[in-house]
Amino acid sequence: MNLSILYRGPLASCNYDCPYCPFAKRHDPPELLRADRDALARFTDWVEATADVRLSVLFTPWGEGLTRSWYRDAMVRLSHLAHVDRVAIQTNLAARPDWLAEADPATVALWTTYHPGQVTRERFLARCDRLRELGVRFSVGVVGLPEHLAEARALRAALPDEVYLWVNAAEGHRYDAEQEAVWTALDPLFGYSVRPHLSLGRPCHAGETAVSVNGDGTVRRCHFVAKPIGNLYDGSWRAALTPRVCPNAVCDCHIGYVHLKPLGLREVFAGGLLERIPAGWPERYR
Ligand code: SF4
Ligand code: SF4
Repeated sequence: MNLSILYRGPLASCNYDCPYCPFAKRHDPPELLRADRDALARFTDWVEATADVRLSVLFTPWGEGLTRSWYRDAMVRLSHLAHVDRVAIQTNLAARPDWLAEADPATVALWTTYHPGQVTRERFLARCDRLRELGVRFSVGVVGLPEHLAEARALRAALPDEVYLWVNAAEGHRYDAEQEAVWTALDPLFGYSVRPHLSLGRPCHAGETAVSVNGDGTVRRCHFVAKPIGNLYDGSWRAALTPRVCPNAVCDCHIGYVHLKPLGLREVFAGGLLERIPAGWPERYR
């Protein structure tokens, strides 16, 4: 049995100040940080104890996790477990990546996002160089806002071909054919992001081989369907995993629609599903 888990604890603070983000420069009070740390410790213990399932974990904090020691420690610990195939996190890469030297590079991976205006391109690229030195798998992404285009082009030009750069369509932004072509020149898979996917009634792996888990262990199919299907810590999640169709009209976020069966994206991202690296990158896309 294989299960991908998207974990999101209470943490909702970030060191960056992106104008398009509700968590920009938000501070969590000490009691919330303690609760986040405790919840992550409980989750990590659960992963360690659940050795009869092949697990892949993507941490998707509301804010930034890697500036907190407990996310770094959890990733190192999980990366060394024999039944964990992958442990990845979405990060702005502000924290120095040297801690990854302790992790198993065959299992650990990063989904990084470059936020122009919050960090210089040079500094971000230096972090990427360090990840390559450490042999850590990572993708790099940008939000496809018009004001990011020049930086995104410069970043793509500066990154080695082996590093995949993804572009997320900006929320609420419409792209005409010309704009879509401009961003597709940077990310050949931009087409999946630019239009929401009609998902109502369509089969989706979410709730069958992928789930979303929050700090108290509540299990939902994905981050976008609110109804719980069980809890991690009372064992009810096991019976809940079954083939299902999507109850929502559309699915417009990569971490969701990558599981929508008719899209076949598990094949497109085989081997790099959680950290968003396409199979055969870059050879298959030349
Ligand atoms: S780095 Fe991410 S979480 Fe932090 S403010 Fe920017 S978009 Fe929000
Ligand atoms: S299609 Fe998207 S919203 Fe629907 S169940 Fe799958 S991941 Fe969730």
